[in-house]
Amino acid sequence: MKHEYDVIIIGAGPGGIFSAYELMIRRPDLKVAVFDAGKALSDRKCPIDGDKIKTCIGCKSCSIMSGFGGAGAFSDGKYNITNDFGGTLYEHIGKSKAIELMEYVDRINVENGGEGTKLYSTTGTQLKKICMQNKLKLLDASVRHLGTDINYVVLENLYAKLKEFVDFRFMTAVEKIEALSDGGFKVCFEGGELTCDQCIVSVGRSGSKWMESVCEDLNIPAKSNRVDIGVRVELPAVIFSHLTDELYESKIVYRTEKFEDNVRTFCMNPHGIVVNENTNGIITVNGHSYESADKQTENTNFALLVAKHFSEPFKDSNGYGESIARLSNMLGGGVIVQRFGDLVRGRRSNEKRIQEGLVTPTLNATPGDLSLVLPKRILDGIMEMIYALDKIAPGTANDDTLLYGVEVKFYNMEVSVDENLETGYPGLYIIGDGSGVTHSLSHASASGIFVADRIAETFE
Ligand SMILES: Cc1cc2nc3c(=O)[nH]c(=O)nc-3n(C[C@H](O)[C@H](O)[C@H](O)COP(=O)(O)OP(=O)(O)OC[C@H]3O[C@@H](n4cnc5c(N)ncnc54)[C@H](O)[C@@H]3O)c2cc1C
Repeated sequence: MKHEYDVIIIGAGPGGIFSAYELMIRRPDLKVAVFDAGKALSDRKCPIDGDKIKTCIGCKSCSIMSGFGGAGAFSDGKYNITNDFGGTLYEHIGKSKAIELMEYVDRINVENGGEGTKLYSTTGTQLKKICMQNKLKLLDASVRHLGTDINYVVLENLYAKLKEFVDFRFMTAVEKIEALSDGGFKVCFEGGELTCDQCIVSVGRSGSKWMESVCEDLNIPAKSNRVDIGVRVELPAVIFSHLTDELYESKIVYRTEKFEDNVRTFCMNPHGIVVNENTNGIITVNGHSYESADKQTENTNFALLVAKHFSEPFKDSNGYGESIARLSNMLGGGVIVQRFGDLVRGRRSNEKRIQEGLVTPTLNATPGDLSLVLPKRILDGIMEMIYALDKIAPGTANDDTLLYGVEVKFYNMEVSVDENLETGYPGLYIIGDGSGVTHSLSHASASGIFVADRIAETFE
């Protein structure tokens, strides 16, 4: 039976965009549609203006997380080229293939607006030794920092090319995927359905609950057992400048003495801002920064996260993270901010002490007490790491260092896919963060290129 489309891609985040891009390059003759529950890039506007609307009002489609560009559209645009973090794509496709594809994604970004941006690398850095001497491990990576502004330009340029080749359907959440008896798929959405030969599902974090229902409907095995919980640290940029000037983003791991837990830095934003993030109606914290100097601040922010793995019978690791985030929302009406000095002294922060401090907050959060929210073991680990970081970046443990909570890194269920990122249904691929295989821009994008290449071959 002839289907309406050769390929339907669900999700227009980096995974979906780069699969569409590669199909356009490899097989411009194919008929391809891309569905996204969110808006076109130019229509994506978060209503928070810092004036009339100060905090998240829980829009039906969150413009920060959904639409063309996905969760990455207003991100800092840090494309880390590494197998050390950002996902486990290499477990499916091999380490050298994964790096090769991440480098290919980098070239596409550079060709489409990112040509003036810088590629940083840990290769040959002295900082590795200094970290090691202080019980800290600096992970290896190259990182292209596009910045929020150039990242947007790259997305605009990719969209301009893709719209000539792809049928985009925005504000169209796919409700159901049905496997057809002839081997194709029916994609159902409000007010219609379309069929295709092959289907790429790339629904990211915002599609995690829907992904679970697809796995249930189609009997695709999936498991979930991890969530990362922590805080976002904000301090004067000068304290971390010797690291950020050379590496831009340093991924540093510390093993705590007390519990032997790993605490790690995550998503470092030199001269950046701290922002709210809305995941399924729960407000957590995140950060980003701009490439252009006039939008930069005097602060640097990064997350300190502790990974929590659960074993049987508990299965709902994301639910655990959500409950902790809900607690902070309950106490603070959103994100809570606390001075490190107040945390150490066991007292909540207040407006006055924060205003008098040396760090001007870049996010309007409620002064509070993070010890009422975060489990003791996690908080102890974070405090230990702040003192460890103070040895390589003196000033990190200053009283005025700001901690915003909570930052939660939700992991999607790991969906059972093979070495081609294909499910047990031939032609049904699950990629990007929605598959649980990737957790980053570069890995999600590389997974998109990978399946597009596979699909291009099947049509040859
Ligand atoms: C504020 C912020 C900053 C970040 N900064 C960085 C960074 O600097 N570097 C980095 O590596 N990573 C960063 N990340 C993470 C990065 O954005 C993600 O890893 C990446 O976007 C994953 O790509 P994806 O295509 O898998 O999913 P997503 O980008 O989440 O895209 C999924 C898309 O699918 C759509 N969708 C969901 N369900 C459906 C459905 N049922 N029907 C139709 N469409 C659907 C959504 O609307 C969304 O547009 C950041 C994330 C955030 C939120």
